[in-house]
Amino acid sequence: MNFWKTKTLSEMTNQEWESLCDGCAKCCLHKLEDEDTGDIYFTSIACRLLDLTSCRCTRYAERTQIISDCVDLRQLEATQYHWLPSSCAYRLLHEGKELPEWHPLLTKTHDSVEKAGISIRSYARIETKDDDLEDLEDFILDWLE
Ligand code: SF4
Ligand code: SF4
Repeated sequence: MNFWKTKTLSEMTNQEWESLCDGCAKCCLHKLEDEDTGDIYFTSIACRLLDLTSCRCTRYAERTQIISDCVDLRQLEATQYHWLPSSCAYRLLHEGKELPEWHPLLTKTHDSVEKAGISIRSYARIETKDDDLEDLEDFILDWLE
């Protein structure tokens, strides 16, 4: 039996936990929250520490010390899972849902993430020092949830 069907998120080993991440990098996009509704909006601007070619963090081990709003997802409170994209395995399992058919744990290859259009690589850009993050509203991706 696949481990994600028999264990809760908190019961998983670190290796199991990490293998659930499909590498989409959506969680590395800057986000905005509507204060009235609590709705989350993703933008096309990605954290400066992201390598957009590999969609991996360039400073993974020290990420939360360098970027103040970068979150170690293992420490994320259950009430905060709505900040994750709807395709994210952690959110899906937390909500009692199945992994999608393109997930690397099912397909045995990360190519399936790209083919399914889940990776941010084709539409995101990395934040630069010239970006004014006060203007993030201009970069909201309405279709991404
Ligand atoms: S959104 Fe979820 S699956 Fe995608 S990179 Fe972030 S943690 Fe991994
Ligand atoms: S520090 Fe790394 S993991 Fe955190 S948001 Fe930035 S690129 Fe993503």
